[in-house]
Parts: sequence; C-alpha cells; structure tokens
Amino acid sequence: MRAVKASPDIAVADASLAQQLARRIASDGPLTVADYMAQANACYYATRDPFGRGGDFITAPEISQMFGELVGLWLADLWLRSGRPEDCRYVELGPGRGTLASDALRAMNSAGLTPAVEFVETSPILKRAQAERVPHARWHDGIASLPDWGPLLIVANEFFDALPIRQFVAGPAGWNERMVDQVEGRFVPFAGAPVEDGPRRPAVTGTICESSPLSMAIVADIAERIAAQGGAALIIDYGHVRSCTGETLQAVHAHAFADPWTAPGENDLTAHVDFEALSGAATSDGVAVFGPVEQGAWLGALGIDVRAAALCEQSPERADEVEAARLRLTADGQMGSLFKVMALVASGWAEPAGF
Ligand code: SAH
Repeated sequence: MRAVKASPDIAVADASLAQQLARRIASDGPLTVADYMAQANACYYATRDPFGRGGDFITAPEISQMFGELVGLWLADLWLRSGRPEDCRYVELGPGRGTLASDALRAMNSAGLTPAVEFVETSPILKRAQAERVPHARWHDGIASLPDWGPLLIVANEFFDALPIRQFVAGPAGWNERMVDQVEGRFVPFAGAPVEDGPRRPAVTGTICESSPLSMAIVADIAERIAAQGGAALIIDYGHVRSCTGETLQAVHAHAFADPWTAPGENDLTAHVDFEALSGAATSDGVAVFGPVEQGAWLGALGIDVRAAALCEQSPERADEVEAARLRLTADGQMGSLFKVMALVASGWAEPAGF
C-alpha cells in the first residue's frame, strides 16, 4: 500500500495553501484567526518579493532613501550622545529587501558607527534580496538566537503589522474566539467557543476585539535584551496610540484591498498595531518607552525637510520625485499620521531625538 500512501503526501506538498488549510479544517476542525493569519503570511512571504510597483504594496524605505538615512542618523545620534558604546549590533526585524538597512548603515557609517548586522527573517526569497544589499549580515529565525552580549540597535518597520492576531467576538455570555471554517469551498469566520483569556473590556454583543500575543512576546523579549545588553529599539508601524475595539485585519493585493478570507497565502494580511499594548508589554526594569508619535512629526523633527532640500540641490532633475516622496512619508492622510514611531531605550543611554 506504499504507493497509495505516497501519492496523497505528494499531493499535499504540491497543494495550494488554501487546499492544505481546507484539509486541515476537514480533519481537525476550524482554525483560530491567528493560526489562519500565521500560515497565510508565512506562505505569502516565503513565495515572493511583495514590494514595489509590480508587487502588492510599498513601504517607507522603498519610497525614498531619506527614510532609512534618517533612521540611521537617529541611531548614530543616540549612540554618540550615549558615549559611543563599543560592540553595538544593528538588528533588523523583517528587513524586507534590505533597503532600510543599507540606507541606515550608510548614514551610521558616515557618523563613525559601524555595527555588526543581524537580520531576523524567515522568508528564503527575502533573505536572498537582503544578502545582495547587505552581504555581511547574519540571519536568525527569531530573537532568541541573537548574540547575548553587546548593545543592540533594533529596528522594526512594518514588521509587527504582519504578525498574527487573535480576534474575539462579544456574545451574550462574554468573549468568544473568532474561528475560521470551510463552508462550500469558502473560508468563513464565525464566533467560536467562549474564552477565559479574552479582552479585559466589557463584552458588548457584536463587538470585535483583536490582540497579538506574538507581538507582545517579541516586544517583551526585546525590552529584556535591551535592559540587559544596552541599546535601543525603534518600532515604526501603522496603528493606533490607544487600545480600541473593532476589526482591523486587512488583505492587500496589487495595491488594492482584497478579502482576507479568500486565497490565503496570495494576499498580504496585516492588522493595525496596538501601540498602547506594545508599550505595556515592554515592562523590563532598565528600559524607558518613548512615544508613540506620528511618523510625519518624527521625520520632521529629525530634519527630513533639510535632507530633501539637499537631495534636490544635488540632483535638480529629481526634485519633483524627492518632494513627492517627502509628502508621502510625512503628510497627514498619507503615511505621516497613520504611521507611528515608538522607541525603547536602555537606562544609562541618552534621550532619543524626535519624541
Ligand atoms: N521592513 C521592511 C519589510 C516589511 S514587510 C520594509 O519596511 O520594507 C514584513 C517583513 O517581515 C518581511 O521581511 C517578512 O518576510 C518578515 N516577516 C513576517 N513575519 C515574520 C516572522 N514571523 N518572523 C520573521 N520575519 C517575518
């Protein structure tokens, strides 16, 4: 019977993620939203480079070199005013194409800061893209394997929004975990069983609440590392300053919104980052939290206008492009107000700029 058993296994390996998840639901029952999102994004990032015009979405470092340069200068300024500690490492979580890192490292190097580079990345395709831009980096599958000595200068841009969230639906008896089932070939979310560890706010029937336990765990780990080793973390993402209710899970494909419950693994799934919850998770003694502040205000305080003017003077033929990028990164209604910036800084280090 070996041959018979072998063929379904091969079929599973070749099946689309939608088929694999459908089989799993048929045999083990509905998935949590967190499980669905984790699997969908793992498959999505493992199989493509999603950035830019021909892809699904664009991120700040891909819009303009100014973004990564200002991140690098922010780190270098903090390092200089903290007395130039030795053996610093630049750590980036989810470095995408490596564009932010290469722009930030150029700016840091020009200020005399030449850190070793450690990338936390799971996608093999994106690791290859990162290696082209930052060949001397070392790669990690998670935070745990990062070196346990030397100050860490950690950057995470649009990383936390891609991490899985749990969703809860309020019913008459309290909070229920939102689950994903398969009905007539379609993925359908529904309110599952009541949970003990749901949101702490009152359950008003019909309300949806989200939480990202993985994000909380990662921020708690980062805070602990910074407290023990020194350094800072810069977290930039779209999201809200205060915890709130409502569904924010969204799917994006080819620069347009798509249905999160269709074609898992083919769309980018993200959720708003809850900065109040993130800052609450960074509880280690020996770490101070700054912000969140709006990205537009933060880039303004770091001198994006001056940098844009210098780039326009260097290459007048690119002036329109530079000005459009500056507006896109800083204007209200574009990335300027939707995106927030938060920093964790080790005690004994200087106050960070821009907060
Ligand atoms: N920071 C980049 C890319 C943002 S997209 C930029 O600003 O352009 C999200 C990034 O996080 C991708 O590199 C993706 O592969 C990575 N990623 C997503 N989930 C991850 C996980 N669980 N562990 C490690 N990396 C992850």
